[in-house]
Amino acid sequence: VLEQAEFQPARLLEILRAVQAEFRHIPESAIALIAAGLQIPRTQIIAVAEFYSFLHLTPQGRYDLLISDSITDRMLGNQQVLDALAARLQVEVGGVRGDGLVSLNRTSCTGMCDQGPAGLVNGYPLPRLIPAKIAAVAELIEKQVPLADWPAEMFQVDEPIYRADLLLKQPFSNGEALQTAFARGLAETLAEVDLSHLRGRGGAGFKTALKWRTCSQQTATPRYVICNADEGEPGTFKDRMLLDLYADQVFEGMTVCAAIIGSSHGLVYLRAEYLFLRDKLLAVLQARREQGLLGKAILGREGFDFDIEIRMGAGAYICGEASAQIESLEGKPGIPRTKPPNSVVCGYQRKPTVVDNVETFFAATHIAIQGGQWFADIGTPQSTGTKLLSISGDCRRPGIYEYPFGTTVRQILQDCGADEVMGVQVGGPSGTFISNRELDRVVAFEDLSTAGSFMVFNRTRNLFAIAQNFIDFFAHESCGFCTPCRVGTALLRNQLAKIADGHGAAEDLEQLSALCEVVKNNSHCGLGESAANPILTTLLSYPELYLQQLKAKEFAPGFDLDATLAAARRLAQRDDAAAHLNQVEN
Ligand code: SF4
Repeated sequence: VLEQAEFQPARLLEILRAVQAEFRHIPESAIALIAAGLQIPRTQIIAVAEFYSFLHLTPQGRYDLLISDSITDRMLGNQQVLDALAARLQVEVGGVRGDGLVSLNRTSCTGMCDQGPAGLVNGYPLPRLIPAKIAAVAELIEKQVPLADWPAEMFQVDEPIYRADLLLKQPFSNGEALQTAFARGLAETLAEVDLSHLRGRGGAGFKTALKWRTCSQQTATPRYVICNADEGEPGTFKDRMLLDLYADQVFEGMTVCAAIIGSSHGLVYLRAEYLFLRDKLLAVLQARREQGLLGKAILGREGFDFDIEIRMGAGAYICGEASAQIESLEGKPGIPRTKPPNSVVCGYQRKPTVVDNVETFFAATHIAIQGGQWFADIGTPQSTGTKLLSISGDCRRPGIYEYPFGTTVRQILQDCGADEVMGVQVGGPSGTFISNRELDRVVAFEDLSTAGSFMVFNRTRNLFAIAQNFIDFFAHESCGFCTPCRVGTALLRNQLAKIADGHGAAEDLEQLSALCEVVKNNSHCGLGESAANPILTTLLSYPELYLQQLKAKEFAPGFDLDATLAAARRLAQRDDAAAHLNQVEN
């Protein structure tokens, strides 16, 4: 395994993935070999292995089953899936069967919220886990049938596009954007991207042309182009569809960007849950090389060399954040960097780097062909063009929808077949929950900003279960770097559970709100800054539901600091009166 992988510290994640694929975990002997070969401390390797939820230091089953625990999968019965698999395969949830054949666990969203309840087996997708399919999966595992021999339809991920608009309808032939850009001139093409007012589709909405121009003006070389294909926000799956069906157009957007900023090296950071797309994407890249659209002297243009490689993530939501993604690409834990400097100045390998979302590159391809005004004519002045939405939850037609920015939530709900709506979570857990009294609000950067997640909840749903699921997600995905987020998300989870369980008094709600502000205002990166959103926005939409939930007349602390310090007393072998909190207060 070690001989096959390109053996550099920056490729540590890939090396560990390859080792794990062979041994079902990363054995101590491999850690020692890698440490010696890369000349890095073994603790550095362990830190990386421990950071990513898809890497393991202890053996997993030969069939490793992970069931999505996103809120929409819960609504579709993921617990029944877990129970059925656990019973049929005689394995505990969170455990490995005694004979090592199978392991079973929950995971964060698998990117298949439109076809849940979904899961993964050894990283490959298992959408629509209906009872008959669960039985078939269990039987194949018990018979130890290699994955390669499982029926292909088991792994079939559909790409239901219910509404195509400006971009998805646009005809395209390979090389068209590059040829148009070269004919027009690269500076002029950048001016067209500027004119289009294209903003990043990953959520932050940074102006694309400004990012490309700033990167191109840096004196440091080489420069890099990174396509962020790590859409880990629960409820988002539109990048999956783009990479599955429109990969050429995404790669062409990256190549246009490379020509403009002067880059020869592109990387696609593909989320681990989309492993099933990797071979397909590699084939598309190879075909593009054969067509002269990647590699040396692209389209015969001497001096323009550019190629793209695919790098896999390993199950860390935070790696969707650009600087954390760059850390991950460099073989480190995905901890967001302190900014400034931004990635366009000091990114991958500390060199100028453009990091853009899959959908941004896809849009840029068509802007390069059609021009900026064509794009700017659609949408709103602050949010030009269209937005791809991944719609899931309580609706009859979950799937992909493309809308001009400025479309109302009411219209979208009507199109996807949603009735009796209680609310919609726009933008995933980090986004905004809106009530059914706000359906005339619009999808746009100036109102409801979203990377693409649009989850619908009907009146039968429990608002607290939704908020709790989102807070659990953040508490699980916090990278642990800064205290307000690491500790704060855990406290939010506990406080919300206390209220949801009927032990909350009025003071608990005050404490909850205060804690939300602490987490929001003191965290290091966007994850922490938005982690309290599920509470803040549901509290704003449905304050009466929170008030109704306050069942306790008197406040009782939900956190016993003195009891928590008991472990420290044991370790210090000191349990006298002065080592207790009440003694300190006296
Ligand atoms: Fe990590 Fe959370 Fe701090 Fe971001 S806010 S750096 S995710 S601990």
